[in-house]
Amino acid sequence: MTAKLLDGASVARAIKDEVGSEVVEYSRRGLRPGLAAVIVGNDTASHIYVSSKVKTCEQLGIFSEKIELPETTTTEELLALVQNLNSRDEIDGILIQLPLPKQTDAALVLNSVDPAKDVDGLHPTNAGRLMLNEPGLRPCTPAGIIEMLERYQIEMTGARVVVIGRSRLVGLPVALLMLHRHATVTICHSRTKDLASVAREADILIAAIGRAGMVDAGYIKPGAAVVDVGTNKITTPGDLDYFFGDDQKRRAAFEKNGYTLIGDVNPRAAAEVAGYLTPVPGGVGPLTIAMLMKNTLAAMKMRRGSEDKGI
Ligand code: NAP
Repeated sequence: MTAKLLDGASVARAIKDEVGSEVVEYSRRGLRPGLAAVIVGNDTASHIYVSSKVKTCEQLGIFSEKIELPETTTTEELLALVQNLNSRDEIDGILIQLPLPKQTDAALVLNSVDPAKDVDGLHPTNAGRLMLNEPGLRPCTPAGIIEMLERYQIEMTGARVVVIGRSRLVGLPVALLMLHRHATVTICHSRTKDLASVAREADILIAAIGRAGMVDAGYIKPGAAVVDVGTNKITTPGDLDYFFGDDQKRRAAFEKNGYTLIGDVNPRAAAEVAGYLTPVPGGVGPLTIAMLMKNTLAAMKMRRGSEDKGI
C-alpha cells in the first residue's frame, strides 16, 4: 500500500483564505481582529516562529503587535504587560511565546491572560471548557488536526483512535477533541506497555512524542490514517541513511543545513502500511499557524462580535 498524503500545507492555505475573507468583511464594518505576540529573550527558533505568525497576520489583514523583551525580564514586568494587553479592546489574542526565561514563573504569566484572549487555548479555563465540550478557544495544533481530518472526510465517529503522547499542548487536547467527535480513544505515553500492539488497533493513529521516526510499520494497522505531529532533527549520516536512503532532496537539505526534519513516524516504513499519512514538514506544522489566525478571529467574534451590526 502507498499511503495517500494528508496535505496539511494546502489545508492550512484554505483555512487562511477563509479567515482572510472574513477579516476583510469584518474590517469593512469597522471591526479588525488584533493579535499581540510577546517574545522574551534571544532564542532564535522562537524569534522565527513569532516572525512567521506576525507575517501571517499581515497577509490576512489581522492587526499584529510584536512585543520583544530582554532576557532579564521579570515575572512582575510580564504580569503588568499582560494586564495592559488584557485591558486593550483592539487586542483580541495574546500569545506568549514559550519558553520564557528560567527566572520567570511561566505558569503564573500564562494563567494571567484573559481566557477570552487566550488564542493558544492553554488557559485552565479553556482547558476546562474543552474537557466539558463547551464553547471556548481550543489549542491550535490539536484543532488543526481535527480540521484536516474533517476536510479529508476521515470518519471520526466510532473510529478507534490511539494518541501517543499526553502533553497539555497536543496529546491530551487532541484526545478530548476526538472523544467529543465520538471516537473511541486510547491515550498512550512513556509507560504504556506493549505500545506497538495498542497502536496497531488504531483506525486513526496520532503520534505526538518527540522521538525521531519511532513509529514504524509495526505500530500501524494496514490502511490506518497516521497523523505525525513530531518535529525532530536528523543530525547524523547514519540516521539520514536509515530513514531516507537515497532520497536526494533530503540529502541536499542535510548537506546544506547539517540536518533534515523528521516526525515521530518513520516515513518510508509508514507509507507502505498506512492508508493516509501526514508528511513532515508540510503536514501538521502549517496547520498550527493557520489555526492561530482562526482563533484570533474567533476570539474577536466571541468578545466583540455583538458590536457588529451586519454579521
Ligand atoms: P512533550 O510535552 O515532550 O510530550 C511528549 C509525550 O510523549 C509525553 O506524554 C511522553 O510521555 C510521550 N513519550 C515520550 N517518549 C515516549 C515513548 N518512548 N513511548 C511512548 N510515549 C512517549 O511533547 P509535545 O509538546 O506534546 O510535542 C510532541 C512532538 O510534537 C514534539 O516533537 C514537538 O516538537 C512536536 N510539536 C509539533 C507541533 C507542530 O505544530 N507541528 C506543535 C507542537 C508540538 P510521558 O507523559 O509519560 O512523559
